[in-house]
Amino acid sequence: MRKIYLDYAAAAPLDPKVLKTMEPYFADEFYNPSATYLDAKKTRQAVETARKDIAGIIGSQASEIIFTAGATEANNLAIQGVMRRFPKAELLISSTEHDSVLEPAKLSRHKLVPVDGQGIVSVDSLAGLISDQTVLVSIILINNETGALQPIKDIFRLLESVRKKRKAEGSVLPLYLHTDAAQAPSYLDLHSVRLQVDMMSINGGKIYGPKQTGFLFVRTSVELKPLILGGGQERGLRAGTENVAGVVGLAAALKLAVEGRVQETARVKALNELFREGLAAHIPTAAVNGSLKHRSPHILSITFAGYDNERLMMELDEAGVKAAVGSACSASSEEPSRVLAAMGLPAELIRSTLRFSFGKSTTKQNIRDTVQVLSKLTS
Ligand code: PLP
Repeated sequence: MRKIYLDYAAAAPLDPKVLKTMEPYFADEFYNPSATYLDAKKTRQAVETARKDIAGIIGSQASEIIFTAGATEANNLAIQGVMRRFPKAELLISSTEHDSVLEPAKLSRHKLVPVDGQGIVSVDSLAGLISDQTVLVSIILINNETGALQPIKDIFRLLESVRKKRKAEGSVLPLYLHTDAAQAPSYLDLHSVRLQVDMMSINGGKIYGPKQTGFLFVRTSVELKPLILGGGQERGLRAGTENVAGVVGLAAALKLAVEGRVQETARVKALNELFREGLAAHIPTAAVNGSLKHRSPHILSITFAGYDNERLMMELDEAGVKAAVGSACSASSEEPSRVLAAMGLPAELIRSTLRFSFGKSTTKQNIRDTVQVLSKLTS
């Protein structure tokens, strides 16, 4: 039976090369990196080398990398960490954030920045929503449901002008920019993204690294409070004995993602085009959601008007094709996707929408086969 995996935005398999780098740290080099004997110093070195390698890749200082258990925790640290430090201040997030940004945002005074029909944040609306009390703006870099790419550079410019104005007026409240870049490392230059943001969340599990690994880049100047208190690891911002194998694997995965980025982006872009061309030829009513111009090529959200997405997904599964109904974390929820709703898609069409996401093992033949199966299922 055919086996086609088109859900890379939910999870990617561990790269065997990454696994190899991790192996020594499960048993042989098991020591606590904070212990003081010589063997433990080697384990500490492995953690710090991973941190340095990651810092080198994104162009930050090593001390600005805080290891976390995935992007959910990194997002929580960014949002709750800043809001606990500035409890009276306000936070702005886009209306298409991942739940791991939205839910912690709900604990503080927050407003949602609208997106247009293409899923792109309106910078003008954002400008109108910034107040004297705004301390943090959090905008997802690549949306995990549609692939829409946000104009971080324009948002950075806007925040810079507000910062200048505040300075001139003698305000001491900072204005930080955070981005959830969990879907980005295989397709975008993180170095240039880092230049514009104060905080950035990254996830190991989406880049062929281990799950429950990730980090928050936190610019040295950012003031935030820890969420997990204890032994003071990670500059006091995330206590707990380090996941040594995990951080070593995360660094290896990020390195491979960055090395292969240009080539893989071109390859996946061709797959994306092939899929859209195939759909246009065989299922002309299938509609792509989200900007075609500003996007990552690895995610496609497609509406099959008149068809129930749960049912289509199951029929695809039976035919050997794994696709997703919205994002993995909300797949079990009865509510239609709030991301697509924020883009103006009516509930009825949201319930006819599937997400397809591509990765390293996706081939042109996979795409042709999927289009063929879809065209049979919708005829
Ligand atoms: N942010 C985005 C954009 C994601 O796609 C995901 C995973 O689906 C996360 C955050 C959360 O990642 P994790 O569940 O691995 O912590």
